[in-house]
Amino acid sequence: MREALSKDEKPGNKLKILKKYARDLGYPVVPGKNCRAFFYSKKITMNTRLCVEKQIYALAHEIGHVATVKRCVKQFGTNLFSIARSTPWYTLEAELTAWNYAEKLAKRLGFYSVNLLKYKHSCLRSYYRSNY
Ligand SMILES: [Zn+2]
Repeated sequence: MREALSKDEKPGNKLKILKKYARDLGYPVVPGKNCRAFFYSKKITMNTRLCVEKQIYALAHEIGHVATVKRCVKQFGTNLFSIARSTPWYTLEAELTAWNYAEKLAKRLGFYSVNLLKYKHSCLRSYYRSNY
């Protein structure tokens, strides 16, 4: 898959690549009211009213959540994260981890940009407002 990626691809192609990436992880992307990963029904919802650029950033972030959860389950063999998720400190930790993953994906797929960082920071500010 990586060989097929180049930095001059159109945003729509990046979104397609990310959707395939999510599907390969076992989480198909379906339209929804907001962007969110569902760990029990194994899907990612995407707010398709967002512009393509923001959908790319948001999907990379949700893939980060999926990858993190998969790693936790593999490492601990349990769903401990689902209990911890209800605590605010975990939420912020999980969000930062998912954004770190999104940034790595962005660098690998060629959409790492100032706009990604701006979007990340505006999301982090909104989590802070809603959780603390
Ligand atoms: Zn998140």
